[in-house]
Amino acid sequence: MTLRVAIVGLGKIARDQHVPSIADVDGVELTAVASRNADQDGVRNFATIEELLSEPALFDAVALCTPPQVRHEQALLALSAGKHVLLEKPPGATVSEIAPLVALAVEKNVTLFATWHSRFAPAVEPARRFLVERGLRSVHIEWKEDVRKWHPGQAWIWEPGGLGVFDPGINALSIATAILPRSVYLTSSELSFPENRAAPIAADLRFHDASGLDVTAEFDWRETEGETWNIHVETDRGRLSVRDGGKRLVLDGEVLVDEPDAEYRGIYRRFAELIAAGGSDVDLTPLQHVADAFLLGRRHVVEAFVEA
Ligand code: NAP
Repeated sequence: MTLRVAIVGLGKIARDQHVPSIADVDGVELTAVASRNADQDGVRNFATIEELLSEPALFDAVALCTPPQVRHEQALLALSAGKHVLLEKPPGATVSEIAPLVALAVEKNVTLFATWHSRFAPAVEPARRFLVERGLRSVHIEWKEDVRKWHPGQAWIWEPGGLGVFDPGINALSIATAILPRSVYLTSSELSFPENRAAPIAADLRFHDASGLDVTAEFDWRETEGETWNIHVETDRGRLSVRDGGKRLVLDGEVLVDEPDAEYRGIYRRFAELIAAGGSDVDLTPLQHVADAFLLGRRHVVEAFVEA
């Protein structure tokens, strides 16, 4: 049976990834969109999620592609209406707002899928399998990009709950928490806030695991010489690097995986599988680490960020 999806929030990620990926995946179809500002060809268009939900026969599931600060209310509405819900990352603006959504999904017997798109990158599962049997010596995460290039005009990202540089940084944490064999916990956090903004532009983090493994992370939005989205793991069998956001896996210079991006097709296949199996998938670990980074963070005030 075809899974009929309605997208809420027709912004960058909805246009770049959700719409084309839904079109590419067999058994999944886009039938409606709720957008305050835009229309999508070939489907029913609504201005708000309330109007969308007034025509429930049009769709089975809602993909929430809105900023984290407004997604909770939308998820409550969609789950209450008995619809399956896909949450873009991060799953919420706070950690504790997710438990009521999980409970409501159980009560309504529908699927809640908190997506971490980077976990669907091709190098992630091979990296996990490689690391499970190895001695690990250290891990270094470098996740740097130009905020002006990747988040132009996104005012919400600088507001409380928008996460600032953790919006991309949480992708690195979603990969690290998927590939490392033991759970890690934060031990230090240095956060750089532009003097005119409520969210950090850079962060330096340190984690450990129960074996004493040292994990360091550098997140920076002030990179203007291209992107660096890499995780390097020093092991007893050499240096394993998950590179380019998870597209490539390299062991001591030898390329083990190098495949094009298919993250969102993987997400929609998984969503359909979860619905067919009557299950949910909600892992809050990356968001908990970001919350810890704010809890333990030493705040540094840096130069104002001016977009233009
Ligand atoms: P965006 O371009 O700003 O789009 C968000 C859309 O949400 C807006 O275009 C708007 O759509 C809708 N919206 C509803 N209420 C809003 C409000 N109060 N303020 C702003 N927008 C509101 O953002 P995005 O990059 O698509 O990111 C959306 C989510 O996807 C974020 O959680 C982000 O972390 C995640 N994500 C983004 C990327 C990426 O590369 N950009 C990658 C992966 C995940 P309408 O005008 O249609 O109502």
